[in-house]
Amino acid sequence: MRQPILSTSRLTRQFGGLTAVDNVSIDVDPGTVQCIIGPNGAGKSTLLNMLCGTLQPSSGQILYDGKSLLGRRLHEIARLGIARKFQVPTVFNSLTVEENLILAGTINPQGSSRDVDEALAMIELREVAQLKAEFLAHGQRQWLEIGMALMTKPRLLLLDEPTAGMTSDETAKTASLIRGLLGQVTVLAIEHDIHFIRALNCYTIVMHQGRILASGSFDAIEHNETVRDVYLGR
Ligand code: ADP
Ligand code: MG
Repeated sequence: MRQPILSTSRLTRQFGGLTAVDNVSIDVDPGTVQCIIGPNGAGKSTLLNMLCGTLQPSSGQILYDGKSLLGRRLHEIARLGIARKFQVPTVFNSLTVEENLILAGTINPQGSSRDVDEALAMIELREVAQLKAEFLAHGQRQWLEIGMALMTKPRLLLLDEPTAGMTSDETAKTASLIRGLLGQVTVLAIEHDIHFIRALNCYTIVMHQGRILASGSFDAIEHNETVRDVYLGR
């Protein structure tokens, strides 16, 4: 078996008396797309924040390529090839889609950047490459942000609710776009939209109250009684 690109063991984060992430152990194999679902407050963002180094764990371990990420600085983690889709708007409205991608490539902590045409193909925005970002639809803007993260040639791409605010068509396209990354970039996406997870149809981890409730194929998750009770509310 291959060594996981990312592995956490008993990862825990407390905020005062609240345990937001509680003994979470996950393995992510290289080249795969995995997702973490769970209702609001389940601890998904807290987990992701620890993985990209913006938040320190209270206890537990994070291994990337077998090496501990604990105590490393943000830029150091970025340089190791872990990228996160930026949360705050990082798209420059007055620049074209292509110019935004080029810019993202130049601020790449890893050095060499991806070919712009390749990134445009990966996010399916070739037709609007010369359009100023201010004229993009909400979904296109989100895909551009994914493209900007891809320009740094990450080995592990972390996505926090990539379909937030999207129409159902945009959500479906986002799922197909991320599936297209299979085998090229390892993706860990957190999401609460069940339609997106269904469309993505990948290995899924269900979080609830800071803990892992279940994990497996989407099919297995969808038919898991505990998951149905707690998450799907049926
Ligand atoms: P999710 O992303 O699954 O919606 P979060 O990780 O954002 O969940 O939050 C998990 C729990 O931790 C929630 O109860 C939230 O209020 C709490 N929490 C998250 N960040 C902080 C923080 N910086 N300080 C205090 N509590 C926090
Ligand atoms: Mg969240």
